[in-house]
Amino acid sequence: MATVLDIAKHNPNAATLAVSDAARVAGFVEKKAELNVVAGAAPGGASLIGLTRDQLKDSLSQIGVPERDLKMRVAQLWHWIYFRGAKDFAEMTNVGKELRARLAAAYTLARPQVVSEQVSKDGTRKWLIRMASTGPLDKGAEIECVYIPEVDRGTLCVSSQVGCTLTCSFCHTGTQRLVRNLTSAEIVAQLIVARDSIGDWPHATPPEGAFVPTDGSRFVSNIVFMGMGEPLYNTDNVIAAIDVMSDGEGLTLSRRRITVSTSGVVPQMERLGSEANTMLAISLHAVRDELRDELVPINRKYDIAQLLDACRAYPGLSNARRITFEYVMLKGVNDSDADARQLVRLLKGIPAKINLIPFNPWPGSKYECSDWERIERFSEIVFRAGYASPVRTPRGRDILAACGQLKSETEKLRARARMMAEQGIGAEGVYAVGNGE
Ligand code: SAH
Ligand code: SF4
Repeated sequence: MATVLDIAKHNPNAATLAVSDAARVAGFVEKKAELNVVAGAAPGGASLIGLTRDQLKDSLSQIGVPERDLKMRVAQLWHWIYFRGAKDFAEMTNVGKELRARLAAAYTLARPQVVSEQVSKDGTRKWLIRMASTGPLDKGAEIECVYIPEVDRGTLCVSSQVGCTLTCSFCHTGTQRLVRNLTSAEIVAQLIVARDSIGDWPHATPPEGAFVPTDGSRFVSNIVFMGMGEPLYNTDNVIAAIDVMSDGEGLTLSRRRITVSTSGVVPQMERLGSEANTMLAISLHAVRDELRDELVPINRKYDIAQLLDACRAYPGLSNARRITFEYVMLKGVNDSDADARQLVRLLKGIPAKINLIPFNPWPGSKYECSDWERIERFSEIVFRAGYASPVRTPRGRDILAACGQLKSETEKLRARARMMAEQGIGAEGVYAVGNGE
């Protein structure tokens, strides 16, 4: 029977999504959803947080800033919002009082609401973030975002969609029914929220006892698009968000330290490389089409050969800029010596890194994580073939902050987290991959 979310009845902007359970069982490629929402449709003053330069320009235009001043005003606001992290127009001392008043009357600098923050024993932080409502009956879509600090870097794992239309059989996010694209502003806002929370602005200080890089690195130095959603099903907004995040006069993240992970949306890969110029990660997970069709169903549209051809053609690929191939270790499914040897054969000639991910179980998942000896053996075969093959360090296991476990039905998630903790099931945090730099 098809299930339709109630919220869609009341809110034209919310994703309407009909998921047939029979279709899920039959293992179809993806769920269908109306993906886009209108940015800033919330009643009351719209927030300027996360906007692109063009959007900011429009917003200023709308409150009567004359055309000749727009460039200068955008530059001023850009500096306050993205360089200094301003939370109030009153801080913007080089903007005249009268304009500040007009800005404050029409807009806000409100961040999306942090519904909860969980801090792991290892310093990993996970935020449940509620986006602004898009209509009277929408309480706001919820997404998760994870911060993984290390001594020499801080990696933020961001979401690109609420849920995911794809249905990879080992991924919890793929079971979520509510799906919509995040706007570029909502993607950028995750970085702003993270920097607010860990005190990563000039003159701010981290919360007492927080784990942040200690070698002088930026607190958030790396971004991975490995949270909820398929970034290349939301390519326009992902590219626009990356432009804001890497802007040299604002948030100034290096594009080389931004990694976009895709399950293999082949037609969008070239565009990502040429327009966003970021690092690429591929969720490969299987070396035979028959198995990949089951684990990563988008493989039925774009098979392994097509995917690897698109990898070979990825703009800017070189030994210094390798593609990361992610491979989740599923006991008795994809973890044999023969699989490891085939993996090495397949990747021949592609500047590649291989990331072995211990499978993170979730209640109801039908797989188990490979035994540690098996992972080591697999890793050794890959290593002997000349690839560094780090097994992702478990991070944030006590707060359910793991890849593939993010799912925004808050209450259910909390209940599950409790249940898993009680049963002693570890949630391996796996974002600590970093982006090579
Ligand atoms: N949709 C994108 C990015 C988000 S998923 C993609 O699929 O690449 C980020 C990574 O987590 C992917 O490599 C995904 O395959 C992996 N993943 C999903 N569920 C997992 C699980 N339960 N255990 C381990 N890794 C998982
Ligand atoms: Fe979506 Fe990635 Fe999960 Fe597959 S692994 S369902 S593409 S989030």
